[in-house]
Amino acid sequence: MVIGILGAGQLARMLALAGKPLGLKFIFLDPTPIACAADNGKHLIGDYTDPKLLTQLAEEADIITYEFENVPVEIIDFLSEKTPVYPPAKALSVGQDRITEKNFLQDLGIATAPFKAVSSLEDLQQAMPEIGYPAILKTRRLGYDGKGQVVLKSENDLSNAWQAVKNAPCVIEGFVPFEREVSIIASRSVSGEIAYYPLSENSHDKGILRLAKNTRNDPLQQKAEAYIDTLLKALDYVGTLALELFVVGDTIIANEFAPRVHNSGHWTIEGSETSQFENHLRAITDMPLGSTHSIGYSAMQNFIGGVPASEKLLALAHVHLHLYDKTARKGRKIAHATARTDSAENFADLIKQLSELAAASDDS
Ligand code: AMP
Repeated sequence: MVIGILGAGQLARMLALAGKPLGLKFIFLDPTPIACAADNGKHLIGDYTDPKLLTQLAEEADIITYEFENVPVEIIDFLSEKTPVYPPAKALSVGQDRITEKNFLQDLGIATAPFKAVSSLEDLQQAMPEIGYPAILKTRRLGYDGKGQVVLKSENDLSNAWQAVKNAPCVIEGFVPFEREVSIIASRSVSGEIAYYPLSENSHDKGILRLAKNTRNDPLQQKAEAYIDTLLKALDYVGTLALELFVVGDTIIANEFAPRVHNSGHWTIEGSETSQFENHLRAITDMPLGSTHSIGYSAMQNFIGGVPASEKLLALAHVHLHLYDKTARKGRKIAHATARTDSAENFADLIKQLSELAAASDDS
């Protein structure tokens, strides 16, 4: 069976690496001539909107999926006429606009930060008494990794913040004084089988994920599963989905969801019986889903802009390195490493060593 993927970056690469043992073959569409997934299958080089290439992708693939959430919905509609595409277009159309997304979550009874749509400085000024400070101004569309976001601490920040987002339609949202950031990842198959991963506990810096750890028996696991269960069913979802959450006491507040495999789930490659990548592929090909049981303690460290020498990383016991074969560039995720151990002993120390190595090579 041939899986078509829109995008040939590291997520597509990890999907292909997980799919090969299942006998799957891959074809990618990506405009970048040297794309890091490309040597794991056939690479169609060209624009995502090129009808000729989209037709070729649909003809050569049995099922199509994607690795990024900004795929124009019309492209999914075009492809779907010829070949099944998962996750469904609805997940994209809801998730691509932060206002639509938050309304959708709230309608499902999933809590979000207080928010308001704003499209001018006046709107923003009017919204602030209700939202309160501190707050975060985010562009409604095309924001990721903290891009298109400004924190507002007081009234004095309003006009600079509005200039920074360049008049783009925005959402202003209350700053959640979270104790932890977590994400729940789950996969749902064509037949409706669902597999939930243990919550991942995530640390960000400058809006970019740095470290993700698996949790064990987290007291909020059940609540988070109930949230993602509702969301998966409401979207009639097929594939792997991630829901990012803030934790305040015993309350969880949704930030956003990603209709794809997610960076906070990379630890599942070594840390779960079945990775998020394999389960995404099993889900879209309607195979039984694999166990999401955690194998010990796992922590994934991202390497951004630079990566420590492999010798140094691999000298750490229990560390597994994933180089994405991407050229280093400021702010670019180019590799990750996962530490997985059977016992809690030395785990904190291992994470510290990984984080220190990451900090020394970081260029974000
Ligand atoms: P996002 O692009 O929405 O995923 O935001 C990136 C990161 O910014 C999040 O992971 C949080 O660390 C932080 N952040 C975003 N929105 C909020 C919020 N309303 N309250 C507190 N922190 C936030």
